[in-house]
Amino acid sequence: MLNQTSTGSAPAYGVHQIAHDPATRADRATAVAFDNLSMTYPDGTEALQDITLTIREGEFVSFIGPSGCGKSTLARIASGLLQHTGGTVRIDREHLAFVFQEATLLPWRKTLQNVELMMELRGVRASERRRKALEQMEAVGLKGFEDRFPRALSGGMKMRASLARSLTLDPTVFLFDEPFGALDEITRERLIEDLSALHREKGFTGFFITHSIPEAVYLSDRVVVMSARPGRIHAEFEVNLPSPRTHAMRFEAPFTEGCALVSESLQATMHDTGED
Ligand code: ADP
Ligand code: MG
Repeated sequence: MLNQTSTGSAPAYGVHQIAHDPATRADRATAVAFDNLSMTYPDGTEALQDITLTIREGEFVSFIGPSGCGKSTLARIASGLLQHTGGTVRIDREHLAFVFQEATLLPWRKTLQNVELMMELRGVRASERRRKALEQMEAVGLKGFEDRFPRALSGGMKMRASLARSLTLDPTVFLFDEPFGALDEITRERLIEDLSALHREKGFTGFFITHSIPEAVYLSDRVVVMSARPGRIHAEFEVNLPSPRTHAMRFEAPFTEGCALVSESLQATMHDTGED
């Protein structure tokens, strides 16, 4: 069983499938709301169909689904980079950050200057820029690397610099599109643990796309499994694990069984459509 109810009043830790019913969450402060959202590209490709989903302020939600099911499309619509073709999306974009798989640092700028870039574009004055960039570099564990050029940073450090640069915007909503997909496993695990701590500390709303089930479960309050294209919501899981999460937790039954549950759901949606 997924529920660990060893002592009478202990919470039932684990991962549980929940009904897909956005109305039940309407009472809480809403950060992102998709209502019957659909997206058909100009060439006729139907990428998303009837996405209705509400994300609460401060909630961390992961999206997982077959390749090409529309995850990136959904994130790009949320960010305003892409205009959807049906339904509505509500989100405060003033304090929004978006991190992609590629760290997209400018090679001719030192790391600190890269971290300052967003603020520079927004006209933040130099002393304030410097102060905030240093603060966020420290927050992501890059203190001491300010003067390095991107080529002298490891993949994980580049991603940390990219995170720091986004954090300088004080995002209330943070979108991630497979940010750790290109990194080796050890680096990824450390980044996940650090991102989890950052989320706890800063309290932003997280919209996180990943191919990794353990990554999704570790980071999230909720995991959304999407079906193959056109992307729909196949299933939702509530993750109820102690906070802060710990490395050791990943090897314990509520976590591993939760991963198995999400995996089964993902397998089911892939079998539905004959994709692998
Ligand atoms: P995911 O991120 O889940 O892998 P995407 O959102 O990138 O999926 O893509 C969803 C579907 O839309 C895919 O079939 C993809 O080929 C298609 N697609 C993405 N961008 C475009 C575009 N600009 N024009 C037409 N089709 C697109
Ligand atoms: Mg994608």
